[in-house]
Amino acid sequence: MKKNIDEIISVSNEIYEKGLVSGKSGNISKRIKTSNGDVVAITPTLKSLSDLNEEDIILVDMEGNVLTNGKPSSEVNMHLGIYKNRSDVNAIVHTHSTYATGFAFSSKRLKRLEGFGEINNKYLAQVGYEKPGSDELAKIVSENIGDEDVLILKNHGVICVADCLKEAKLLAIFVEETAKIQFITHMLNSVED
Ligand SMILES: [Zn+2]
Repeated sequence: MKKNIDEIISVSNEIYEKGLVSGKSGNISKRIKTSNGDVVAITPTLKSLSDLNEEDIILVDMEGNVLTNGKPSSEVNMHLGIYKNRSDVNAIVHTHSTYATGFAFSSKRLKRLEGFGEINNKYLAQVGYEKPGSDELAKIVSENIGDEDVLILKNHGVICVADCLKEAKLLAIFVEETAKIQFITHMLNSVED
């Protein structure tokens, strides 16, 4: 268990340092298989991902019962909903990374660039706005995750899912880079030579 918790802390630090999350935003979780069934280790509510200790990481069961001290991320139900619908997903990284979230607030859609697996849709999947932390958001996300590895949350942020935390993190970094490239492209196309 300690290894899993250490990994969550180190990924939290890394994505904070890379500027993918700021202040107290963003949350990360990992599904851990135990002899008593799956548990989810998740970052806490109201704490910066830059400043987490081992005891800050919260364990919850698949029904959302908190198994350790502290309060899990307000998006815990969104994470659990994804895990319940996707047996292949063992890690989730949710950010409000600047450029990708800029697209989420704009009328422009983020295109799928290479690196997202098989391309059968020109744009990254997106769900409509629901209040952060709400049951409605958890519901719309779990209903629309399908077999996507990235979901844009309208007027909110980004969710990346993968079979392991390292992949989910790399995806979050890649989505932000992709958004940056598309933003720069839009800007350059809008100025005269
Ligand atoms: Zn959020």
